[in-house]
Amino acid sequence: MHTHIIPKIMPNWTEKFGYGKFINLVHNDDRSADMMQGGQFFRRIQENCWNDELRIGEYEQFNTQVQVVCTIPVMFSYWARTEDCVELSRFLNDHIADLVAKYPKNYIGLATIPMQDTDAAIKELERAKATGHVGIQIGSNINDENLSEERFFPIFEACERLGMAVMVHPWQMMGFDSMKKYWLPWLVGMPAETSRAACSMIFGGVLERLPNLRVCFSHAGGSFLPTLGRIEHGFNCRPDLVAIDNPVNPRTYVGKFWVDCITHDIDALKYILKLQGSKRVCLGSDYPFPLGDLEIGKFIEKSDLPKETIEDIFSHSTLEWLDLKKESFI
Ligand SMILES: [Zn+2]
Repeated sequence: MHTHIIPKIMPNWTEKFGYGKFINLVHNDDRSADMMQGGQFFRRIQENCWNDELRIGEYEQFNTQVQVVCTIPVMFSYWARTEDCVELSRFLNDHIADLVAKYPKNYIGLATIPMQDTDAAIKELERAKATGHVGIQIGSNINDENLSEERFFPIFEACERLGMAVMVHPWQMMGFDSMKKYWLPWLVGMPAETSRAACSMIFGGVLERLPNLRVCFSHAGGSFLPTLGRIEHGFNCRPDLVAIDNPVNPRTYVGKFWVDCITHDIDALKYILKLQGSKRVCLGSDYPFPLGDLEIGKFIEKSDLPKETIEDIFSHSTLEWLDLKKESFI
């Protein structure tokens, strides 16, 4: 339920809009492509980032039939002018909608929406639902604003009303500029970002006010669940700082939201399962990126977890998160 995809061909947005560091793809002879960010090299990606048939084949190798796809977080472009981000989001969402229509038993779509503008975000959310998306992927912060900010609340409210699931993905990692060495934004910043998002949505009362909002936090919730004891203790010992917008203990929400299983560590996953319950842990891969679980679910399959738990992780949890029926894919 956590894979990334990008259209093979995209307009050169920086040239088209005349500003900014939008992502542009420059294809190489060896079927790889360079993601250029406003003219500067960002990352080399392989054909499995855009080739729909190739992706299905690579997934089959790990007995996995369906992939939930969303864009690559660097494409969010929340920093752009609203109208430009709307155009970009629509382009990406239409690409995924076409893919889902073409392969309804292999692909499920999550849209991206212009979170920097509440009205535009809701409009694109509604359009995404109408074109077959079952949820959205959003960043862990929006231009450095936390998800507890009131201006994001109507978007979450609309997600609940429309039955659109939300996946929170870390991006615009805190401390990025001060810890570029050793890939630290990905190894340290990303888990912290996800915890930042979970704490913000809990302490800001988003999950309290919207009990039917179906939220999933990436990478097993980042550092949120492993540091839950500290977070709860902070809530109890300094309610004057922590419980100012929501008086409910943060532990109350554990098992109400979903997380993926991307831990690369069976003992860590067992602890997550103990906290969340198997119905709230989904099979995520982060395919096709190297930090993902590219032998999809193998570490779970070969573990001593009960068969029912594995079945929950491999399909039931994701189906419930997205409010879909297993029969639709058989
Ligand atoms: Zn990811």
